[in-house]
Amino acid sequence: MFDGPLDVLHGGERRLIGAYLVDTGEGLALHDCGPASSLPGLRDALAARGVDARDVRHLLLSHIHLDHAGAAGVLVREHPELQVHVSRVGAQHLIDPARLEASARRLYGDAFDTLWGELAPVPEANVRIVDDEVIGLTCFPTPGHASHHVAYLHEDGTLYAGDAAGVRIAPGRFVFAPTPPPEVDLDAWGRTLDELERRAPRRVALTHFGIAEDPERHLRALRETMHEWAERVAHGMDEQTFVAAARADVRASDPEEVDVYDRAAPYWHCFRGLERYWRKRAEAAAE
Ligand SMILES: [Zn+2]
Repeated sequence: MFDGPLDVLHGGERRLIGAYLVDTGEGLALHDCGPASSLPGLRDALAARGVDARDVRHLLLSHIHLDHAGAAGVLVREHPELQVHVSRVGAQHLIDPARLEASARRLYGDAFDTLWGELAPVPEANVRIVDDEVIGLTCFPTPGHASHHVAYLHEDGTLYAGDAAGVRIAPGRFVFAPTPPPEVDLDAWGRTLDELERRAPRRVALTHFGIAEDPERHLRALRETMHEWAERVAHGMDEQTFVAAARADVRASDPEEVDVYDRAAPYWHCFRGLERYWRKRAEAAAE
């Protein structure tokens, strides 16, 4: 049985961050959990499905960025039985989130606390490093947005994609690649898209936000936008022009949704990550 996203109402806003309730052979699981600041919203969304957070046995994390996994430590503190599944590299940052927090504070400044809330460590005893199979779901690496990102494919054909399949705010149609600094790798992401296409999911469950029921078109559109936006930055477009062009792209497809897309994955983050990606590539080539 498949259900749509649990809207955690990040910052009180709809359709920014979605978690998913997944029925597995080993009990109820959540895919991603949002940040600690939106835990009340997550609880309410679970309650609306008749589920208490204590009934959730497993947390399947796509990656450890705060909008996906920030609440993990607080959830475990409140529900000490919870098993947290994450990639090996991600696990280190859950157990000791100091570096993750420092890097996020550099990006977000004073807005950090309001946006994300507490970033509590996850006790090592609760952390499970993912393998090819995780509580009955197929799990595989999906680097690009972050090098430690993984996706989970359920036998019902649902791909729990995290950020690997881009940002598309349902019912919008536009798809773009969230490319925040510092880890974006476009070559790796291209291979990840090959892999997602090869696995031919029936539907794609996106953290930002909702279900894509047209996976083939969706992944093709993501590839096109990723290429186009990357080229703009490669050819020297400045941040202000890039953001205006991104807004125009989204407006042409989904005029009502330009600001929601921006709040889910800010266009200026996309610029900064791409700018850094090309700069590092040029520096490496010059050595
Ligand atoms: Zn992320």
